[in-house]
Amino acid sequence: MEHITDRHGLRQWRQRCGTVGFVPTMGALHAGHLALVEAARAHTDHVIASIFVNPTQFGPQEDFGRYPRPLERDQQLLIEAGCSALFHPPVTAIYAGQDQTRVRVEPLGSDLCGRFRPTHFQGVATVVAILLNLVRPDQVFLGWKDYQQVILLRKMVQDLAMPVAVVGVPTVREADGLAMSSRNRYLAPAERQQAVGLHRALEAAQTAWRDGERRVESLVSGARQVLASFGIGDIDYVEVRDAETLDPLPVPDQRAAQTRPVMLIAARVGAARLIDNRILTLE
Ligand code: AMP
Repeated sequence: MEHITDRHGLRQWRQRCGTVGFVPTMGALHAGHLALVEAARAHTDHVIASIFVNPTQFGPQEDFGRYPRPLERDQQLLIEAGCSALFHPPVTAIYAGQDQTRVRVEPLGSDLCGRFRPTHFQGVATVVAILLNLVRPDQVFLGWKDYQQVILLRKMVQDLAMPVAVVGVPTVREADGLAMSSRNRYLAPAERQQAVGLHRALEAAQTAWRDGERRVESLVSGARQVLASFGIGDIDYVEVRDAETLDPLPVPDQRAAQTRPVMLIAARVGAARLIDNRILTLE
């Protein structure tokens, strides 16, 4: 696996490759990230992952400073996963210092997680635009765990006519259903037990939907009750939205039966802000 840290090295690597699949990450890799590498390998000749803890997507009170950075372990995992190259730039290789440009996808970027992390998606869209321009992949692989991120970056790519396909990869979970996340390591053992409440709340909504419940308020209040039963009270949001656009579902709910709904949850457990989602299906 090639270890690339600057733009010049990246350009040279890119010229030697056929089709390229790109997996952007912030490191502290787990099986969820590796599923992205695996999906990329199945679709493209060469897979490049990036590890870049992007300062512009963290708010001033957030965990940028203490975000885990176990580089050697990450490198080893990427080698074992069959990655062709790792792009691991310093901040100065991404942001020149005099940069004035930010990519905003609005109003989606201010909705859902954007309500609680006002500059987050602007940071995400900007860094992913820069990375896509540098790597010039044929396909970029993103996890559905960050559902709003996939929808938002798809919109960015479409709106800016960027020549790349956005591929979403299903969420990889722990045995009890907790969505894998680099931030799960912030959880103390008792909090780890609580954290599975997000998954359980989504399962409850799925069961209710399958059994014919179509009222969004009932689906949401049922999920909130499950979260409460796990001692999760610090909830940013529980929402049911259109799975394609993330628009609110039509009210009244007759048409909801025809839409494909997704439930999305963001909640704080201890020091970790956790998110999860589930598309509600009839099976
Ligand atoms: P991060 O390093 O958290 O920025 O995530 C990098 C990429 O991995 C993003 O596209 C995430 O959506 C994806 N990802 C994170 N956790 C998971 C998971 N449990 N399953 C699938 N993809 C994931």
